[in-house]
Amino acid sequence: MKEYCGGVDLGGTTVKIGIFKTDGTLVEKWEIPTDKSDSGSKILPDIADSLKKKLEEKGIAKDAVEGVGIGVPGPVRPDGTVAGCVNIGWGDKNVKGEMEELLGVPVEVGNDANVAALGEMWQGGAKGYENVLLVTLGTGVGGGLIIGGRIVAGAHGAGAEIGHVTIEPNEKELCNCGRPGCLEFYASATGAVRLAKRRMEKEKDKATTLRDQKELTAKDVFDAAKAGDEMALAVEEEYFDRLGYGLSIICAVCDPDVIVLGGGVSKAGERLTEGVEKTFKKYAFPACRETRFALAEMGNDAGMYGCAKMVCR
Ligand code: ZN
Repeated sequence: MKEYCGGVDLGGTTVKIGIFKTDGTLVEKWEIPTDKSDSGSKILPDIADSLKKKLEEKGIAKDAVEGVGIGVPGPVRPDGTVAGCVNIGWGDKNVKGEMEELLGVPVEVGNDANVAALGEMWQGGAKGYENVLLVTLGTGVGGGLIIGGRIVAGAHGAGAEIGHVTIEPNEKELCNCGRPGCLEFYASATGAVRLAKRRMEKEKDKATTLRDQKELTAKDVFDAAKAGDEMALAVEEEYFDRLGYGLSIICAVCDPDVIVLGGGVSKAGERLTEGVEKTFKKYAFPACRETRFALAEMGNDAGMYGCAKMVCR
């Protein structure tokens, strides 16, 4: 009886590792630093050593481990290889093969945004659903998609790259991906600040508390809107509108049960889910107009849980 599984969320500065019971109960979690030296060649051996040591400490035999899931910051091919993770120095790498060799148990590899969606489905804001879209509103806009309980990674590992759906073909400036008008350009935390700056520029004579901020952040914008600042309210409305519009396009393709909003911007709480839901309904195809909105619940642990879920079926 294989009672345990492991989840490893590999990030640019730290690796979050967890040992779980296969029913989703966390046994223990800890972190190790990500050693990016030597093109990241030490990362997988470091993880394997740390995991083996912890299993031994807990008296858990290798035979009792169903497998280990790893989430990596980059696109993952269906065979568990990656085409490069620039943040951690990797070029083309067979993560599944190398890790199975090191650990001697089955290994599954997923993209970090997709495994976070799986984590929210297993134990978080999307618990009880099988069709889940996780939208991470941070520096960029990330997406993770689960359909029928399985990650949709796509042929190129670019499934659910929802931040780069074009929602404004007439945009003049370029997104980080080199094209104009992406959802991320408006709906990331950076995007919220951009919308605010553009509006302040356009409405130069209008008073707003947003002008008092030296380094304007997305939080400042949402806080000011909450406090009733008129300009901030207009910016917030535009933000909700852009995001709701973008999500309406995505739902016409994948029709999830629930859209889970996470990332820094989601700290705005129900004000965010309610605001986006309203504009979403305005644009959505009638059959998916009632799609639920929820807040992510697992924070930085979502990826680690989702990684474990990849191997616990
Ligand atoms: Zn883009």
